[in-house]
Parts: sequence; C-alpha cells; structure tokens
Amino acid sequence: MVVILKQDPSQKKVEELLAWLEKFGVKINIVKGTQTTILGLVGDTSKIDIDNIRARDIVEKVQRVQEPYKNTNRKFHPDDTVIDVNGEKIGAGNFKVIAGPCSVENAEQIVSVAKSVKASGANFLRGGAFKPRTSPYAFQGLRAEGIDLLIEARKQTGLPIVTEIMSLSHIDMFSDVDIIQVGARNMQNFELLKELGKCNKPILLKRGLANTLEEFLMSAEYIFAGGNSKVILCERGIRTFETMTRNTLDISAVPLLKKISHLPVVVDPSHATGLTYLVKPLSLASIAAGADALIIEVHNDPKNALSDGAQSLTPEDFDNVMTDIKAISGFMGKTL
Ligand code: PEP
Ligand code: MN
Repeated sequence: MVVILKQDPSQKKVEELLAWLEKFGVKINIVKGTQTTILGLVGDTSKIDIDNIRARDIVEKVQRVQEPYKNTNRKFHPDDTVIDVNGEKIGAGNFKVIAGPCSVENAEQIVSVAKSVKASGANFLRGGAFKPRTSPYAFQGLRAEGIDLLIEARKQTGLPIVTEIMSLSHIDMFSDVDIIQVGARNMQNFELLKELGKCNKPILLKRGLANTLEEFLMSAEYIFAGGNSKVILCERGIRTFETMTRNTLDISAVPLLKKISHLPVVVDPSHATGLTYLVKPLSLASIAAGADALIIEVHNDPKNALSDGAQSLTPEDFDNVMTDIKAISGFMGKTL
C-alpha cells in the first residue's frame, strides 16, 4: 500500500498516522521529496482500513498495491483448490454438473427429476427449499420439508444435494446438506458468511446481482476468515441495461476468477439468461472459458413449475444438453 501525503503535513498528525499503521505490523518506508512525502507499506496490509487513512486531512491519496483478498488469492495459493464431496471432486480438471429444479415442490417431483438428471450424467442434485422471491406472495419454498425431500431424493439416487440457505437461524436444518448455497441476494450478508465460515461444509457462493469480482472474492474471504476454505464461486449473471435476458452472463469472469483465485468456478446459465434455449450455448461457452462445473435448472413439468419455469429444461432437453457438455468437457481435457 502506498500513502501519499499532502504538502507540509502537520508533523503531529504524521506521527499519529505512523503509530496507527505500525500497530498492523507492517514495515513503513518513508520517502521525503521536496513537495510530497510518500509512505510505502510493506507486509500484510489486508487488515488496514483504507478509508481510515483516506479520512485523514494530511493524506492526498492512498493506493493498494496488493489485492485486499489474501486467502482466496492465487498469488498465495498457486494450486487449484479441489472440493471433494464424498469422492465427487470439483476443480483442478475435475468437471461436474449440478442439476435439478429451482424449487423442491413435492416428493414425486424431486425424486423423478433426481432420477432423470442422474441417468443423463449429472453429479449433484440442486433444489431450493428456502426460496428468495421478489414477491412475498410468490411460492416461498417448502422450507424444512424441502430439505427432507432432498435427502430422500439423495437416498434414492445417491446424488449429493445442493440447497440455498437464507438465514443464520436456519443453519441447524442444513446439517445433512452436502453443499450449502448462498444466493446472489445474500452474497454480502456478512453475518451469514461469518457463520458459514465456522461450518465444515462446502459453500457454493453466488455472485451478487450487481457486485464486482473484487467484492465477490471479499465475500469468499469472509468464509475463509472464519476457518472454512471449501468455497466454490458461482457466476450467475449480473444486472446490465440489457432486458432481453434475465441477467447478463459475465463470461469473462470465468477465466478472470480462475486467474486471480485458486477456487473452483461454477456457472449458472439458467439464472444468467432466464431462457431455456440459451442454456445450452452458454453451458458450452462456460466450459470453453474454463468453468469447473455448471448448475442447471431442470423440471419435470416446466410450464407448471412453482418458480423459474421459463428457464427450466425438461429432462429430455437436459439429456440433450448433457451430450454436448460431455463432448466439450472431454475436448477441454476435463474429467466428467
Ligand atoms: C437459485 O439458485 O435458485 C437462485 C435463487 O439463484 P440466484 O441466487 O443466483 O438468483
Ligand atoms: Mn431459480
């Protein structure tokens, strides 16, 4: 971090700043010019609040030289992280497909979708039990019963389950879930992230609707800071001015995240587009861009789905998409 001081700063205030910075254990190199003084901070500056420095009237400008995310940064962990769920590995050349309905609706629906996606080659079953809906009058999910039904579907198919947590107070209900999802709307629910940092389960963290990649990695950093390093990053489209798709898939986020972080990256082409016919091309593009996994919505009866029917593939369509997913992932040298 580099701090540029204003001309002729109050010596007392400079000393106060230096004393405050020293508390973080960083080495401070002071370069005094005729006009300005520059402080070069060397060491771990991740815990220093940059706004505290900016707010001081002796400071002209502060610049970070290193990224504020440390644990999730590839610079400090060059090897790809592999998430292993009972032998199902994600990352470092291991490619996986997570599939299932937007919401768990009833036993018959979730079990039949689980069986068909498994037959097509999916590795994980997704399904929302707690649903973050824009309208309070829309279907809110089966809640605890939804989790029980996912567990039943896992029992019948062997597919590990992925489902979204929306509140800190629900954490005990997730003790038998294989991967806990944090939805886009909760990416910056820091209290929730702190609590998930204390649990020993893989967390599928979705990028917020309007969050930068740095903010995304800082949220992952929260989970790491609590002691949990099993984080999977999910690009699910961001808000742009475009209205023809539900969101805009930020495809460049995939190779970019893979370059700056060691964490596996999963793409959600269903929420990114909101349209079934875009799921296949964007799935294939995501694999070509380096994704480690896909999460795709599949429903046995999309027209009557209680949520996200317009973006849900039928089991037959999913089977067709899987054929190409297998081909492209094989071409990319990934093991599916
Ligand atoms: C979901 O996966 O069902 C979901 C609500 O996704 P997102 O948080 O990305 O909108
Ligand atoms: Mn959905």
